[in-house]
Amino acid sequence: MYGIIFDIQNYAIYDGPGIRTLIFLLGCPLKCKWCQNPESQQLQPQMSYFEEKCVGCCNCAATCPNNALSLINGRIIRNTSLCKTCGACISACPNGVMEKIGENRELDELVEILLMDKPFFDNSGGGITISGGEPTMQINFLFELLKTLKNKGIHTAIETCGYFNENLIDKLVKYVDLFLFDIKLMDSEKHKQFTDVLNEKILTNFSKILYKVGNERIIPRIPLIPGVNTDLITIQQIITFLHGIDYKGIIHLMPYNKLTKTKYEKVGMGDIHKDFGDLTDEDLNKITKLFEQHSYQVIINH
Ligand code: SF4
Ligand code: SF4
Ligand code: SF4
Repeated sequence: MYGIIFDIQNYAIYDGPGIRTLIFLLGCPLKCKWCQNPESQQLQPQMSYFEEKCVGCCNCAATCPNNALSLINGRIIRNTSLCKTCGACISACPNGVMEKIGENRELDELVEILLMDKPFFDNSGGGITISGGEPTMQINFLFELLKTLKNKGIHTAIETCGYFNENLIDKLVKYVDLFLFDIKLMDSEKHKQFTDVLNEKILTNFSKILYKVGNERIIPRIPLIPGVNTDLITIQQIITFLHGIDYKGIIHLMPYNKLTKTKYEKVGMGDIHKDFGDLTDEDLNKITKLFEQHSYQVIINH
């Protein structure tokens, strides 16, 4: 069995207890307009192209075994229906313009790599956090990975947007020690406007998981996007929801980080890039205080 992975990061300290290794799976059912990892949304590996560094030498097009590349108006255009993501154009390019995002990794090989950090997990109370994209998009692989890690005594966490079929919950709670669960907006239509999906399924899944695992094993993470959900009325709506389902645990606030347009352009999404501006310290303080006034402990993850 293999999963489609696009990154592994070691020594992470914000994504669950202790020192952690993060593994990122490709694919996400949402299309958040502020997405920090636009390259993670597609479920299949893809090629990226950094146009600014391209000198138009055409080595890549000459090398491609599938005739997928053409030079048009000074830029390389890829025919995605012909491209097999073989990677030959990467080595043909003298300027490092092409990259491959995502690769298939066998479960056993991946577990072996992840377990190299076990001494750090053991010494710090850490473990492995599976992120994305949305990890439940590769549900069979996710379950096998979680099961294998649990059998080896590893603490497991997932970072999830919460948009998955609720019949997965029983199996997830069996293998996931900690859910880091995104809550973005209470207004469902507005949620759809900014993420492409309504939020009812997400909120129901949060409530059901909370009911099964309790406050200690689920943490709402709120991305703070200026102009979208940083006004105090919207924050109060989130607090009211959490109170209503008797959530009493920690809150993670995730202030928006500006992304350069280049990251979007490299995967052909330049036209949908949007800059939401900066969250001011004053706004962050007000939001933090509002949660604290309602007895929540706030952790800010920059
Ligand atoms: S849920 Fe996360 S990965 Fe998916 S589109 Fe939104 S920000 Fe990007
Ligand atoms: S990845 Fe392979 S098939 Fe795709 S454009 Fe490059 S050389 Fe051609
Ligand atoms: S080989 Fe590299 S520099 Fe040359 S045209 Fe292709 S992408 Fe551009």
